[in-house]
Amino acid sequence: MAGFDCDLFVIGAGSGGVRAGRIAAKHGAKVLVAEEDRVGGTCVIRGCVPKKLFVYASKFAESFEDAVGFGWTSEKVSFDWQTLLAGKDKEVDRLNKAYIRNLESAGAELVMERAELENATTVRLGSGRRVTARHILIATGAAPFVPRHLPGHELAITSNEMFHLERLPSRMVIVGGGYIAVEFAGILSGLGVETVLVHRGEQILRGFDDDLRHHLAGEMKKKGIEIRTHADVAKIERSGDGVRVTLEDGTGFGAGQIMFATGRIPNVMGLGLERAGVELTPHYAVKVGPYSQSTAANIYAIGDVTNRVNLTPAAVRDGHAFADTVFGGKPTAVDHTMVPTAVFSQPEIGTVGLTESKARATGAAIDIYKSSFKPLKHTVSGRDERMLMKLVVDAASDRVLGCHVCGPDAGEMAQLLGIALKAGARKADFDATMAVHPTAAEELVTLRDRWQE
Ligand code: NDP
Repeated sequence: MAGFDCDLFVIGAGSGGVRAGRIAAKHGAKVLVAEEDRVGGTCVIRGCVPKKLFVYASKFAESFEDAVGFGWTSEKVSFDWQTLLAGKDKEVDRLNKAYIRNLESAGAELVMERAELENATTVRLGSGRRVTARHILIATGAAPFVPRHLPGHELAITSNEMFHLERLPSRMVIVGGGYIAVEFAGILSGLGVETVLVHRGEQILRGFDDDLRHHLAGEMKKKGIEIRTHADVAKIERSGDGVRVTLEDGTGFGAGQIMFATGRIPNVMGLGLERAGVELTPHYAVKVGPYSQSTAANIYAIGDVTNRVNLTPAAVRDGHAFADTVFGGKPTAVDHTMVPTAVFSQPEIGTVGLTESKARATGAAIDIYKSSFKPLKHTVSGRDERMLMKLVVDAASDRVLGCHVCGPDAGEMAQLLGIALKAGARKADFDATMAVHPTAAEELVTLRDRWQE
């Protein structure tokens, strides 16, 4: 460390930065971690964790309805938004404290200030204090992108504000068709908010398997969510307590709130990266190599700020691998392929590997196996909801290239399917695996016939 105040200065105490700081400290490095907001980052404070709690809350509405078919009757049920917010805040506070404790017990020092680069080895803190570091890690994540060219954009909220709304509107417009848009459409609709999803594309969830996209859109519509595709917002105006939204085609409607879920952009603004020789990609992400090293030799970047796989577990892996590489004497490159993922839409999506269209685009012969069925629970609940399962198989090698599920617990299935596909499972391995009965997942090992169009 001779000549430097610390071995590692981490900018950003989200999931990736905290993991990197902890592991580097355990490898014996003197570590400082700076955070300008709350320790825990997007996932813990205003993302995955509170979102999942909202998803749980919103699902009770259907559970109460479904219970009737099983013989339950209940008095009139009601929902209190403030109780949910308080429960969510309590859990977020608990995790925030646990993150701080874990960092400190690993021996890292936490600095609750904004940090910017003065040059490749000097960080300037909000207080004006300067810290020199042998290595610097950029782990600043990403922030919601808002189309600021739109008249009235300032009247809209983003997912950040969704977690602190004083009250739920009776009608909500969500702009976008990605993860956040479909997840919040399900949450709000479940909590009794009339929900309109406005998406510029021909179908929600671009990049996911087409069958999955159409299946989910159909199920969301059955739940009363209005999905407007090929629709662009032209302007937003204040109207009474809420807003009036006008689309490019001239149609318009009123709503209590409008939320942009139009993607996220890497948090690089004002960090001083140019002063340190850190180059960006055309999408304003920090350009990194396989070991997360930026174009400045002693500066690394991990997680969403690098716009590789924008998921918390990837940031955590990136952070751990960085610390092992630089401080643990064990160069580790994270494999960002075959990453399972879940969309906590309602119904849920779990997916891993290639979509049918991406698999076909390779030019290889592809076999498709798929099944759509009513989950056992709904034979008695009477709910009109179907589940979809699909396998994409390389015909020549029999390797399962992709697996796509839409229905209850699909996210849990994706985790286990991820192991099978990562291990190179063939369709014959799926067939040889005994079913777990009665489950929905057993359908994955009993898909006998190739799908014929
Ligand atoms: P996504 O990139 O998933 O989706 C962005 C959506 O906004 C797309 O439908 C896109 O349309 C649309 N869009 C982009 N720009 C505009 C614009 N100018 N006008 C209108 N529509 C626009 O981003 P999200 O914000 O939903 O989520 C960000 C990321 O966070 C995700 O990609 C994911 O990596 C992560 N995340 C993961 C979750 C999970 O693991 N369950 C949950 C939530 C977030 P088009 O398709 O046409 O480009």
